[in-house]
Amino acid sequence: MSWSFFIDLELILIEGVIMQKEAIRIAGAGLAGLTAAINLARYGYPVEVFEKNENSGANRSVDWDGIENWTTEEDIVGLFQRWGIEICFNLRSTLDFEVYDRNGACYPVSTERPFFYLVERGAQAGSLEQSLKQQALDLGVEIHYSQERSRSEVEIWATGMQNIGFFLDVGMTFRTRHPDLVMVLADAQTAPRAYTFLVIADGLAALSVVLTRDFRQARAHLNQAVESFRRILPLEMDDMQITSGFSGMPHALGQSITHPIRVGEAAGFQDYLLGFGIRHALSSGYLAAQAIHDGVDYEKLVNQEIRPLVRTSVVNRMLYDLAGDRLYRPLIRWFTSSSNLSGLTRRWYRNRSLQGMLWPVAFKRYADGAADGEASEIIH
Ligand SMILES: Cc1cc2nc3c(=O)[nH]c(=O)nc-3n(C[C@H](O)[C@H](O)[C@H](O)COP(=O)(O)OP(=O)(O)OC[C@H]3O[C@@H](n4cnc5c(N)ncnc54)[C@H](O)[C@@H]3O)c2cc1C
Repeated sequence: MSWSFFIDLELILIEGVIMQKEAIRIAGAGLAGLTAAINLARYGYPVEVFEKNENSGANRSVDWDGIENWTTEEDIVGLFQRWGIEICFNLRSTLDFEVYDRNGACYPVSTERPFFYLVERGAQAGSLEQSLKQQALDLGVEIHYSQERSRSEVEIWATGMQNIGFFLDVGMTFRTRHPDLVMVLADAQTAPRAYTFLVIADGLAALSVVLTRDFRQARAHLNQAVESFRRILPLEMDDMQITSGFSGMPHALGQSITHPIRVGEAAGFQDYLLGFGIRHALSSGYLAAQAIHDGVDYEKLVNQEIRPLVRTSVVNRMLYDLAGDRLYRPLIRWFTSSSNLSGLTRRWYRNRSLQGMLWPVAFKRYADGAADGEASEIIH
């Protein structure tokens, strides 16, 4: 980034010297954009964020999402601190959950450190988006809602997903008096080459089917998932709302991530094995701010912290797709019988030599649209 970038509009007083500093403009007041804004504002930069919707989180209904906690040694709670984010939103750690196979056999899992965290999403008080928004506003960030921007008008492009993606997440939320729980259903018929889960926390239940193919049958898969869960657990379901959305753009992994700096889903950052994008959105927003402040190459930071994990996930997705759904049973047994589930999963994500060898083939398979099934047809 050239120094001329920092000169002009805004007057800033640093150690008695008046410097002129241009506001850094960000498109997208979602997770990645707001994290970048918070960190830049903390470093003293004037920041303007432009959001096409009327509020942060308005593109999501009230929901529980999972933040994976298995790809790094450092726990997500510590990472939030490093990313400059205060935990003023609803966050729950998950140490115990149950995995079910298609015959209804239950495999209970208990972990010593949280395997994942649940975080509330949406535009309501207590959500991650609203907390980030408040933290940004408190630091003096200007957020302009209902204002869309193009790539040439901003320094940071944090615009999230397009209307189509690699994963389709279709589900429903409802209110229940049932105690908190997390259940995962690994059943090829309900969610081919992916999974279905039910989360209940604080009386809010989120049931989701994650699909990588068969998108046109999403509603049928959802009905099947509801039936399967109700067979396992009779549930009263009040105030039901249907939710849906896409995540993952593997073709974006081949695009430049500088000029403007791309963060989050807009850069293709996602876990392509299981569909977890929150960690990479927050981490890339933080790295974008670091790069601008320290005058270092954003690409280099991403190569150290994000790309290896994203690439491994693409390779893992390819291996999983090639092996097919017959892997469900052995995988469930293998994972649920491990005494150190996080360590086992982390090793799988850190297999750099396998990743290095297979990445070019895996990237071509998904970015070129040559993958099996409907997901790739829809991406392009
Ligand atoms: C239904 C669903 C369930 C999910 N569940 C999980 C989960 O359990 N765990 C997980 O890790 N991930 C999950 N994800 C993925 C996760 O939500 C995303 O990876 C994450 O939100 C990406 O953050 P982001 O900042 O890149 O995009 P977003 O948070 O979507 O923010 C992008 C923002 O940019 C705005 N915008 C778009 N274009 C413009 C423009 N031109 N100008 C201005 N503003 C613009 C959008 O309105 C939006 O507010 C899920 C996604 C969906 C849809």
